[in-house]
Amino acid sequence: MEVSFKNDIAQLRLGDGDTFHGEGILAITKALLQSGVSYIGGYQGAPVSHLLDVMVQAKSLVAELGVHVEACSNEASAAAMLGASIHYPVRGAVTWKSIVGTNVAADALANLASPGVTGGVLMVIGEDYGEGASVVQERTHAYAMKSTLLLLDPRPELATMVDMVEHAFAMSEASNMPAMMELRIRACHVRGSFQCRDNQRPAVSALSPLAEPGSFDYGRLAHPPSTFRHEKLKIDERLPAARRYIVEHGLNELHAGKPGGGFDDIGIIVQGGIAPALLRSLQQFGLADAFGQSDMPLLVLNVTYPLVPEQVAGFAEGKRAVLVVEEGSPEYIEQEIATHLRRRDLQMALHGKDMLPAAGELNTEAIMTGLLAFIELHLPQVDTQPVATMLADTRERRQQAAARVDAALPTRPPGFCIGCPERPVFSAIKLAQQDVGQVHIAADIGCHSFATFEPFSLGHSILGYGMSLASRAGVSPMMQRRVLSIMGDGGFWHNGLLTGVQSALFNGDDAVLLIFKNGYTSATGTQDIISTPGKRAKAQAGDKLASLTATDRTIEDTLAGLGVQWLRTVHSYRVAAMRDTLREAMTTPFAGLKVIIAEGECQLERQRRVRPWLASLLARGERVVRVKYGVDEDVCNGDHACMRLSGCPTLTLKDNPDPLKVDPVATVIDGCVGCGLCGENAHAATLCPSFYRAEVVQNPRWHERLIDAVRGVALRLLQPA
Ligand code: SF4
Ligand code: SF4
Repeated sequence: MEVSFKNDIAQLRLGDGDTFHGEGILAITKALLQSGVSYIGGYQGAPVSHLLDVMVQAKSLVAELGVHVEACSNEASAAAMLGASIHYPVRGAVTWKSIVGTNVAADALANLASPGVTGGVLMVIGEDYGEGASVVQERTHAYAMKSTLLLLDPRPELATMVDMVEHAFAMSEASNMPAMMELRIRACHVRGSFQCRDNQRPAVSALSPLAEPGSFDYGRLAHPPSTFRHEKLKIDERLPAARRYIVEHGLNELHAGKPGGGFDDIGIIVQGGIAPALLRSLQQFGLADAFGQSDMPLLVLNVTYPLVPEQVAGFAEGKRAVLVVEEGSPEYIEQEIATHLRRRDLQMALHGKDMLPAAGELNTEAIMTGLLAFIELHLPQVDTQPVATMLADTRERRQQAAARVDAALPTRPPGFCIGCPERPVFSAIKLAQQDVGQVHIAADIGCHSFATFEPFSLGHSILGYGMSLASRAGVSPMMQRRVLSIMGDGGFWHNGLLTGVQSALFNGDDAVLLIFKNGYTSATGTQDIISTPGKRAKAQAGDKLASLTATDRTIEDTLAGLGVQWLRTVHSYRVAAMRDTLREAMTTPFAGLKVIIAEGECQLERQRRVRPWLASLLARGERVVRVKYGVDEDVCNGDHACMRLSGCPTLTLKDNPDPLKVDPVATVIDGCVGCGLCGENAHAATLCPSFYRAEVVQNPRWHERLIDAVRGVALRLLQPA
């Protein structure tokens, strides 16, 4: 990984009395160290990648504290890592993106939650939900309920978030329940400050290891008959202990409302994570101030599972109406509150999803819409007209804008980076399909899923990270043509090797797998994987991890070792060779698993490495050659076939310089990294001869200057005056 987190690591070293300034996710990372964690692990993914990325680079800091950091191969291995805290009094934290990561971790989570933990355990969960989310829209809350895990949803303010991390460990120890903390995208990126404490060196750690393993205790195994006892412990001891902790330490915030404000018989219960959006919405009605003081009584749930029935009932008692502001579907919290109130025969109006949107992010506009209905029904004395007008105006403006924009602008889907090695392969797939016909394409998670957008529109299904090969198992037998499964190397190591390759080999499936070997888990921030290029070089340079894992042919060796007999490695940018290899895989009489490895380093990483190196050469006055592609505007006929085959953002349009032609011509704008795809496509697809390749020479040698001068003279002589 080339991104440097030097400044962030410096913040992690702050001690007693220092003030931390920064983003929420880094504050959480600092809080882990202040809580005395012995080990940290996880699998990267938005919006929590930063936690693990920073810890992986903070080598000297974690070494001083004795904290073990593990970049896990997937979320299941991260969750299983927490098993260290079942027997031993060690605190551990892991992180991943939810809901997808929690799905992957589910098996280990259930088996962790059943025996329970001795040392505090915290999972920092990036709740990728709502506008801009990149995964299926489901809630982590379901896992907390089904496996009996603590679920914290802290108010996104740095001091509160840091406090909640420290409480999460203590509550986990008090209740033996593993804890999860869900952080929405905004909570991860919210900026603020808090007063630091010193980092705690854990009592048991890599620096002070245990002399002996724990004694054998069948009761700590998630195995019958222990599991029957575990279930009773969850109900009889752990949940009550957690509820006691929540109340005794005031984790949920009770705001009484404005004294004499006249709203005592109304109340709102809200998840901590969306409390700021609620307060901002109340402010629009004149029911809260700019400092977050509400006129109405509020119960802010920084812990959303378990709820404390007495606390909920105590808050609701004596009120005419209660509104539950809960994001996402189903309304787990609202349903539970309804149960607690009904069991106590507390009669009041209970509202929630009948007034708020059932699904989607609860931004201020959504909350204001729900509040408007609630206030109009129960607080007729409040003037709601300004908010009603504001919401109506917003709706109207949105409709007007949509009508204009839809008519005037094409959509701009996300796409591959300029020079991405994956783009040429999809060009080759398009060309191969011209010969073999259209095929079913099982797509996967990763940068390559950008190919589902224009100009490729390739991919029939996405069933999860590393799942493409497995997902075609039911499709293949029903297809006359072979199915093409596409996977990145990140997905291959995350899950694809076992769920896909092993299964296809075991079943003798006639399948085609294309693996993008770009060297990193690019879509999550280009984290290193076991097959990252240059591991050998790093190993030779003394990198211990690299020396234990290094081989530049790890994927190929693994596949061969597993028994893959048809295996080809093709350079990503060789479009014609890739097209021919795909055609061969689709038509060969060999009926087993066929794997094509598309080898080409992630351009983002390559540029990060190459740019500083080139800058240093230039600074020393050394010769640097940059390749650029261009289009001869006099030759281009304006059919745009090259664009339909490429989609590179720097291959675009400009007005036709020929006054007799109306179609715009192709042009290569600044930003072209000279990947060569334009030339490759022109040859492989027998496009027009418009493309040219130019070499831009900086700091040329004397003989190059001389040749240039001679050419200049010749051109001037040949050109008419
Ligand atoms: S990050 Fe790398 S692999 Fe992903 S689109 Fe960009 S260049 Fe391609
Ligand atoms: S050579 Fe073509 S495809 Fe490659 S970066 Fe330049 S314009 Fe884009």
